[in-house]
Amino acid sequence: MDCLFCAINNKTIPAEIVYEDELVTVFKDIQPQAPLHMLTIPKKHISTINDIGEEDKDLLGHMIYTAKTIAAQQGYAEDGYRLAMNCNEQGGQTVYHIHLHMLAGRQMTWPPG
Ligand code: C5P
Repeated sequence: MDCLFCAINNKTIPAEIVYEDELVTVFKDIQPQAPLHMLTIPKKHISTINDIGEEDKDLLGHMIYTAKTIAAQQGYAEDGYRLAMNCNEQGGQTVYHIHLHMLAGRQMTWPPG
């Protein structure tokens, strides 16, 4: 399968990886939209949020737990940050392997664009 984020998981294309375990990889977004912008991706290929199965519920919890732990380690727990996932075209998804954005270091606005 020709998937960019599977290639990052497999280290066949480079990324600035900041954390990795048996379930997830966390790396710096190549086009940061905030002073800190990281993506948490599962090792398992799941194309979109629509494809998340019952068996993936713990994995999704682990993704959020990992992102919040890294946000705290980077010193953003108190000031705050944003976790976001985009789904399909109108949701703004461009890479079809689910990923949790973590944005920190500036004031976020609502609604997002
Ligand atoms: O949610 P969406 O699919 O739009 O996000 C994809 C993200 O993946 C973008 O923020 C983009 O900058 C990032 N990206 C990356 N490294 C790549 C390709 C895309 O960090 N090689």
